[in-house]
Amino acid sequence: MSDQHKGAQIMFSTMQDAPLSIARILQQGSGPHGASAEVVTWTGEGARRSSYAEVGRRAARLAHALRDLGVTGDQRVGTFMWNNAEHLAAYFAVPSMGAVLHTLNIRLFPDQLCYVANHAEDQVVLVDSTLLPLFQKLLPELRTVRHVIVVGGDKAALEAPTGVEVHGHEELLDGRPEEFDWPELDERSAAAMCYTSGTTASPKGVVYSHRSVYLHSMQVCMTDGMAMSQADRSLAVVPMFHAMSWGLPYAAFMVGASLIMPDRFLQPEPLVKMIAEERPTMAAAVPTIWQGVLQYLDADPHDMSSLREVVVGGAACPPSLMKAFEEKYDISVLHAWGMTETSPLGSVARPPVGITGEQRWTYRASQGRLPAGVQGRLVGDDARVLPWDGKSVGELEVRGPWIAGAYYGDDDPEKFRDGWLRTGDVGFITPDGFVRLTDRAKDVIKSGGEWISSVDLENKVMAHPAVAEAMVIGVPDEKWSERPMVAVVLREGQQADAAELREFLSGEVARWQLPEYWTFIPEAPKTSVGKFDKKRLRRQHADGELDITHLT
Ligand code: ADP
Repeated sequence: MSDQHKGAQIMFSTMQDAPLSIARILQQGSGPHGASAEVVTWTGEGARRSSYAEVGRRAARLAHALRDLGVTGDQRVGTFMWNNAEHLAAYFAVPSMGAVLHTLNIRLFPDQLCYVANHAEDQVVLVDSTLLPLFQKLLPELRTVRHVIVVGGDKAALEAPTGVEVHGHEELLDGRPEEFDWPELDERSAAAMCYTSGTTASPKGVVYSHRSVYLHSMQVCMTDGMAMSQADRSLAVVPMFHAMSWGLPYAAFMVGASLIMPDRFLQPEPLVKMIAEERPTMAAAVPTIWQGVLQYLDADPHDMSSLREVVVGGAACPPSLMKAFEEKYDISVLHAWGMTETSPLGSVARPPVGITGEQRWTYRASQGRLPAGVQGRLVGDDARVLPWDGKSVGELEVRGPWIAGAYYGDDDPEKFRDGWLRTGDVGFITPDGFVRLTDRAKDVIKSGGEWISSVDLENKVMAHPAVAEAMVIGVPDEKWSERPMVAVVLREGQQADAAELREFLSGEVARWQLPEYWTFIPEAPKTSVGKFDKKRLRRQHADGELDITHLT
């Protein structure tokens, strides 16, 4: 509060103080949009469908069942599931009854999974039957879990330790009332939680509130956000266990957009088939998924004409990928930036009006413009706040109503400064508010005192027609302390050697940035959510596992 206002009387508004809640989103989706919107779950052969009204009824039945299992107040209910209709019902039932949904990232290492389920003190876990073999290994180590609900398949396939009861999902829901008297909750209370994938340290818990989910959903639907509306059919490739599937499920219920859920069929072939048959208008996934889809389509063309826009985020999207989608399939690729800590939608790259030609691509390849709900600042090495001048490079810090202000039960002051979240992402901001990230702080390459952007080099190498994927890390160098090393995955049936690729880069980057270390790998190491795993590549390099060409 400014000095001028200290001690002054506050005049309150005459507006109602209705809490922003997930139950409200559920009512809107399952009521007015209940008959017109549907969730489609892919089964491998085809699709199964439920109207949003049906999802609402199943959410009510699940809430009754969970109450009977003793779930009250703020207890955590975990999900160990793919994207499907049952997971969607849990997304609404658990927070709306006042409990807390904890989406477990099935791709974390088993010890990390046990860590997060124990840390969050999950009481109940819903598990897809196709994931039982994986879950079985964890169960004996889960200290607080009392009930496991097996979705689909046979519950007898799970061997439970003493003190844990196993239930079949359908039997448990059978005969339960199809309505639930959703309690009126404090909008600031916990609704859902998600742990970061822990690429650097042990996973950290981010706890979303009803209010943050509600406001974030509105941002997803804004025209300059993802522009989701009742006219959309949204293919949610991004897993519901990764940053809440980027908020798509809640946003879709808010406006009555249908959802297409791929379940476990995340490979290019079924995704392409889903698009051709279910005709989504929008879709969202990390760049590596779209790289795979593009390669598949090149070999086996399908009708992609239903897609008006594809949202790409979670890692820097190579401009070559955006251009290929547009030129070959007339699909617009929208680049977005976010983190588990930012709900996750932080910025979206829609160029300002009136911008054309190459300049338009510069905007579109950026991480995008920070919206009103996400305030940003750049901070330099000496904690100095830097200007938005399109040149000064620093760490991006953000704050706002859907940005985490702390981690759950885990003080990590390093990540927060004076109420701002330190993103660990480095770049600059233009005067008109567009963020351009050059690296993650820990991936920055410092060569002879100058910074080289690994992301920039990757994008430029990936523009070569023979290259499917390229990862760049800094490797120790006697003279320059660090130099970039490029790890290349070639497209199937394509050839290119280090000298040719370096030549290809020579007109694109400054001479001193041209990498001299190259390696060709059959597959890029990826994290649990499909991003380049640079930590693993660095380890492979340190352990001498890579066959390196040194160009002089
Ligand atoms: P993790 O940190 O474990 O990968 P998140 O999914 O929360 O888990 O990742 C957030 C990070 O992903 C961001 O801090 C940023 O480094 C990266 N990221 C997300 N979107 C983009 C993007 N469009 N461009 C570049 N980096 C991105």
